[in-house]
Amino acid sequence: MPLDDDCLFCRIIRHEIPTGIVFEDDLVLAFRDINPQAPHHVLIIPKDHIPTTNDLGPLHDDYLSAMFAAARSIASDVAVADGYRLVLNCGEHAGQSVFHVHMHLLGGRAMSWPPG
Ligand code: 5GP
Ligand code: ZN
Repeated sequence: MPLDDDCLFCRIIRHEIPTGIVFEDDLVLAFRDINPQAPHHVLIIPKDHIPTTNDLGPLHDDYLSAMFAAARSIASDVAVADGYRLVLNCGEHAGQSVFHVHMHLLGGRAMSWPPG
């Protein structure tokens, strides 16, 4: 899907909104969450307007692979050696508030389970 003019994260991909970018390549962008829930809270997004994980298909495999590669790279850069959490919220009950697929990378503190 092409980028969407009305989507906040598509606008961040276009660099129309200043954001703390921590990683970028041809397929993904990663930036600091505006409302961090951990000392390190980064959002990793595909450079394609995919609303939810339900919209992912085989053609998106390269994006998914690139998102996990970015997560490994960022985790290594910010030295979250004691572990980190990757979260993908899908739909309103899961708390998804921006409908452009994004992976949360949370690290820098111990976390509990199950999540709320
Ligand atoms: P969700 O709740 O959809 O899984 O996650 C959306 C995330 O986007 C939230 O953690 C929220 O803090 C973050 N967010 C919303 N608006 C902005 C923004 O304008 N800039 C940045 N950097 N993060 C945002
Ligand atoms: Zn979008």
